[in-house]
Amino acid sequence: MIVLKTKEEIELLRESNQLVGKTLGELSKYIRPGISTLQLDKIAEEFIRSNDAVPGFLNYNGFPNTLCISLNDKVVHGIPSGREILRDGDVVSVDCGTVKNGFYGDSAYTFTVGEVSDEVMKLLVTTKTSLYKGIEKALEGYRVGDIGNTIQQYCEARGYTVVRELVGHGVGRKMHEDPQVPNYGKRGQGPMLREGMVIAIEPMINMGKRNVYQENDGWTVRTRDGKPSAHFEHTVAIGKNKADILSTFDYIDERFNYN
Ligand code: MG
Ligand code: MG
Repeated sequence: MIVLKTKEEIELLRESNQLVGKTLGELSKYIRPGISTLQLDKIAEEFIRSNDAVPGFLNYNGFPNTLCISLNDKVVHGIPSGREILRDGDVVSVDCGTVKNGFYGDSAYTFTVGEVSDEVMKLLVTTKTSLYKGIEKALEGYRVGDIGNTIQQYCEARGYTVVRELVGHGVGRKMHEDPQVPNYGKRGQGPMLREGMVIAIEPMINMGKRNVYQENDGWTVRTRDGKPSAHFEHTVAIGKNKADILSTFDYIDERFNYN
């Protein structure tokens, strides 16, 4: 069942999602070789709580931390650890969720650590661009399949593959609501988009093959071939003429502003 949001509820969702954007911005100041993923997690938790919100992922289905941090061949849902240290040349996807005023925020960004190869940078730029291409279809009258098809065509035309096992989703009083929003699909198929719908669009794009597996920790998803993966996510409200992006990358340090 798709829960439509009122204008007032969309403003509350914006508040929660803007806080996610500010948290990603705060974290971006600390992303460099030598910091552990658990240190980043603590910075985010403190920042969210000091802004009168609570971490959205902590204890969600038993997830143990504030952030999902996924290095290199980890696709999503990596668990922060004091033993996991960022190193020069890594790429690190940081997925952050908040709950504020009863509504969820959900957004993710993939950061570079030090200097990364041109090949990896191209993967990041393509994935980020595909997110915005998908958002262009987040309009009343299109269907969910139009978003997925756009992302898939854009990434596959550049030699990358789309992860199928994990998808975007509706966002509201629950973090994962209907509809599911795959990053692949057929034009003109799936649920019709209409004003009042709020969805997270989150391409997960692999440099190698699309296949992934889940580690024994019950969370971490990795590429089967060990090649890197990128992940960018915005929460958006469906618009009549333009999608309304409720989350933001505006606070992220300009070091990471790749286009
Ligand atoms: Mg997310
Ligand atoms: Mg999400």
